Amino acid sequence: MDCLFCKIISGEIPSKKVYEDESVYAFYDINPMAPVHVLIVPKQHLSSMNDITAENSAVVSHIFEVAAQLARELGIAEDGYRVVSNCGAAAGQTVFHLHFHLLGGKKLGLNMA
Ligand code: AMP
Ligand code: ZN
Repeated sequence: MDCLFCKIISGEIPSKKVYEDESVYAFYDINPMAPVHVLIVPKQHLSSMNDITAENSAVVSHIFEVAAQLARELGIAEDGYRVVSNCGAAAGQTVFHLHFHLLGGKKLGLNMA
């Protein structure tokens, strides 16, 4: 499949990995909007939040568990951080493999970062 994040997960395209387990991969955003900007993605290809169903939603709660763990490890848990998923072009989604932005390390504004 011609999907950038599937290629990152498989290692075909390099990334700065922060975390990996059997169902989730996390890596630094190539164009960071904040001092800490990590993308957390399911290994299973889901195009966006529109693809989340009762059958596959367990990975989403796991992603939030990983986000909380990474926030602690990356030192942003105390000051505060944001977890965002842009769904669809009008929301600014540019890569159509479901992903959650973990943003922190500065005072965040009203936009994504
Ligand atoms: P979104 O606009 O919500 O779809 O987010 C896509 C994110 O992927 C953007 O923040 C990009 O900077 C990021 N991105 C695009 N290509 C890469 C890449 N090769 N490695 C890491 N992050 C990337
Ligand atoms: Zn994909």
